[in-house]
Order: sequence, then C-alpha cells, then structure tokens
Amino acid sequence: MKLRNLRLCIFSFLCASAVNAFSLDREAFTFTSYDLNVRVEPEQQRLGVRGKITLRNDSAAPQKIAVLQISSSLDWRSIKAGGKPLQFVSQPYTSDIDHTGTLSEAIVTLPEAVPSKSAVELEIAYEGVIVLDATRLTRIGTPEAAAHTTDWDQIGRNFTAVRGTGYVAWYPMATEAASLSEGQSLFEVLGRWKAREAASTVHLQIAVPSDEGEPPELLVNATTCPRAHEVGQQFIADCTYRSLGSVMPTFVIANYEVVNRAAIAVHFLVGHNASAVNYADAAEKVISFITEWFGAPRGKAETADLSDPNAAPFESGPLLLTPLTSTDPKLTGLAAAHQLTHAAFSSPRPWIDEGLAHFAQALYLEHQSGRQVALDYMGLHRSAFSAAETAKQTTVLRSEDEVNQSLVNTSDEELYRSKAMCVWWMLRDMLGDQALKKALASYHPEQDKEPSYMPRLIQAQTQRDLEWFFDDWVYRDRGLPDFKVESAFTHKTLPEGYMLTVTVTNQGTAGAEVPLTVKFAGGEITKRLVVRGKSNGVIRVEVPKPPEEIVVNDGSVPERDTTNNVFKIEDDAAK
Ligand SMILES: [Zn+2]
Repeated sequence: MKLRNLRLCIFSFLCASAVNAFSLDREAFTFTSYDLNVRVEPEQQRLGVRGKITLRNDSAAPQKIAVLQISSSLDWRSIKAGGKPLQFVSQPYTSDIDHTGTLSEAIVTLPEAVPSKSAVELEIAYEGVIVLDATRLTRIGTPEAAAHTTDWDQIGRNFTAVRGTGYVAWYPMATEAASLSEGQSLFEVLGRWKAREAASTVHLQIAVPSDEGEPPELLVNATTCPRAHEVGQQFIADCTYRSLGSVMPTFVIANYEVVNRAAIAVHFLVGHNASAVNYADAAEKVISFITEWFGAPRGKAETADLSDPNAAPFESGPLLLTPLTSTDPKLTGLAAAHQLTHAAFSSPRPWIDEGLAHFAQALYLEHQSGRQVALDYMGLHRSAFSAAETAKQTTVLRSEDEVNQSLVNTSDEELYRSKAMCVWWMLRDMLGDQALKKALASYHPEQDKEPSYMPRLIQAQTQRDLEWFFDDWVYRDRGLPDFKVESAFTHKTLPEGYMLTVTVTNQGTAGAEVPLTVKFAGGEITKRLVVRGKSNGVIRVEVPKPPEEIVVNDGSVPERDTTNNVFKIEDDAAK
C-alpha cells in the first residue's frame, strides 16, 4: 500500500512538472472577443469586472489548459464555462507587461481539450484595486518620481486614468513573461499580443456610481461610445471596439470641462481653460491641411488633460491624454497635426499608422516654416534610429533579421515612428504630393491583408518601378545608404554654360533617390538621382557659371555618414 502511494506521488509529480515545463503554452489562445461589465468605484480605487470572453485555440495542438492573466492588484473570483465553475490555480507571474511587474495568473482546466482553431467561451469575474504603482520601473533602478511620469495609471478619488495591455492588465490577456531588463523583450511580447488581437472585438459596459450633482466625465477610446447615461444609482457607458489592432482600451474619469469644436473636443481640468483653448485653436488651424493630405477626420478627436503636469502624453485611437498646461504653446500645432492625422487615417500597421502621423508633423512644419525646418525636425528623429542602424551595419544581418526588423514587421518604436516618417518623406519627394495623396486616399484599412497592399497602392500612382525601394526600406531592413561624390568633370560645351558630369557612389546597402545640389557664383541647381545600394549613379547637370561645389543629400534621405557629402570643385577643372 505504501509503495503504491509513493509510486502514485512520483507519477503525479512527474505529470505536474511536465505540464509546467512543456505544455503550458501561454500564447496558444487568441482572445477573440470580450463582453465585460466593468464597475469602477473611484472612492475605493476599485474595479470589479463580470463578463464573457471567447478564446480561440490558434496553436496546432489541442489545449486542455487556458491561461488568463490580470494585474497582480486584481484577484480572480470565478471562472466558468456553460454555467459550471471550472477548476483553476491562481498564481503570481512576474512580467513587466503590467505596471506592478506581476500578473495574477489563472491556470484554468477546461472541461475538455479545445481542438486547434476551435473556440471556448468563459464566464469570468475578478476585482481589486488599481493604485499608482511603478514597481516594474523602480525595481530596475528608475527613481520613483521619474517612474510615475511614465506609469501614471490609477483609479483615484479625484482623477482616474487607466490604460490597457502594456500598462495595466485590467482585462484578461495571456502572454509569455516580458522583462524591461532584457532589451526589446517588452516590445516583442506586446507586438505579438497586438498582432494576435488585431481582429478581436470588445464590448464594455462601464459603470461609475453617481453621487448627487454633476456626473464626472467618463472618456473611453472606443470605436463607438455614446455619452454615459444615468441608470439608477450609476452612470453607464456602453462602448464597442471594432478591432484591437492599434487601440488599447483606456478609460478616464474626471471632473472635466470641455472646449468643444467641430473637429476636436478638449477636456480640461479646473484652471486649465487657457491651455485648452490654445490647443483647440491649434487643431482648428491645421485641420484643413491634414484633411487635404489624409482625408476628413472619421470622428471627433478627443484630447484629455492629465492631472500630473509631468505625466508623459499617451495616445490611443482618437484619444490623446496629455497634461495641457505643460504643452509648449509653440508645439501645440505639431501635437495637433499628429492627433488629427490619427483621427483622419488609421491602419493596423504601425509603420503606416504612426509613420504617417509623424510624417504629417514634418509636412506641417514645412507648410509653416519651409522645407529646411522640416528637414531639421526629421534630423532629430533620425538620430534616434541611425545609431541602431549603424551598429547593425558592422555585423552582416542574416536574411531573417532583415525581414524581422523590416518596417512591415518591426515592433521597435524608433523604426515604425522615426524611420517610417523618413520613408514617407522620401516617397513623397519621389512621387510628388498629388500622387501620394491619391495613393493614401485609395487606402482602406479593412482591405489591408498583405504587407504589400500599401506599396501596391503607391506603385499604382506612378510609372516608375519602386519595387527596389520597398524591398530596401519596407520589406527588408537593408540599413542606411552612404553617399559620396566619387568624381565630377566640367566641360564648357555650351556657349553660355557648363556641363557637369557627376558620379555618386553609395557605399551602403540601401538604395535611394537623393537630391544633388550644384553651387556656382550667384546660384545653385538641384537635381535628383537614384543610387542603388553598393552602386554608382551618374548625372549630368547644366549650369550657367563655373560650378564650385556639389552637395549630395539635403538631409531628406537618412544616411549612415553625412561628413563626406560635400565635394569642392577645383578652379582649374572648371575652366
Ligand atoms: Zn501617434
């Protein structure tokens, strides 16, 4: 008898560790739909959630175990299927995907194994508090005050703002652990989660207790979310997200006042009236310019004030959260251009969605202050990613890295924001404004099923073959070009002028069309030429006076080394 027991123990011990080590696939299920009743109690800093979620097994193997994760400050109350309680083990799981640095993970035994591509519906209940917590940052050495400018989420008596996956796991999710101390780990885990959830839908009924008097304003960044209405002792908002691709469910509750204009509503806290009006004015000034480029806004842009003046701004969908008083009045136009571009144009692909919103900022600066100011602005962004690109150049990228780090696949913000902005600017320089505007107008996010969809729309607007450009900059990461004037010969062949023949070499592996300016006494002429990676390009330029200097690249093409871009022409050669 004893021996039998011992054997059983050994057997079950082995089974248990086999489950932990081999079978727990945290990313097996896609959360395809959420239907949640969310009760927020600001006085208690509490959140209570009841509802249904649907999980689809997207792994190749049948799954008997499902993993559900919420913030460690929340507790699981019940998990059911078909009305019957399911067995689950709740355990802390260390992951920096949540501001507390830990998740409450439920390991749920399903009634039966879910076959690949099949779905299961679960009824869930959980509750707890959401208070200011930046543990994931302070434990890697970030000073507390600085950590709270990033992780400012909380349910508070006077002010509530809670962002979703990546900040606070206030709705269930499941990913492998992310660590802020391991380079890109958090971005990669988040990137995988967003990709899996791109087609997921969310229905939220958010309820806030009503006291007598004015209701607090409840803002939710959903696709549709009519204003909260009073039902019994609470205010209820019924909100729907059509897709979780680029939006992270976020709610804000505060005693806001509002500056309401046709294109934008600016929700501000007591005493911030002037800043709110300033922002709304800036938005109204840029709206016609943004509409020309990206179409009319599909909905009203919403800006909401953050109570902490040092809080880092956050945007998701049409909602921008930013401390209005600390927005530099000189920069409000830039911020508004970015926000209104999101309101006018959306894409599930970050290099399009964020790339275009940043491109719009550069366009806005050019419109206000001229091309050079826009190029200088892009130069600031360029330094953000060119160091990384240069480092890559020293090691030969494997073919799969070129693909993984490409603009269409990257989860690296510096690439899909800053580098993408430069790519859009180069496309615009190559195609011209009208052709690029037409390509953008023909884009429909719901038809964007292939990475090549947008490149094909752009290609359709020009006779030129751009396949090489997309291959070097969009589908693959071929690094940056490095241009240098190899040689220049002047011939006085014309009665009143000179013919200059310039050879430009590109020592980088990415090709580009680059501007080349020839300077002479009293003027200059700029032409453009394509120089493919590891190749030469030759161009002939006619000038009225002896040419003195050649400058390749005005800063519009991101480049590895710009110290070798000026070529002086000797006096003798010009005669
Ligand atoms: Zn943006």
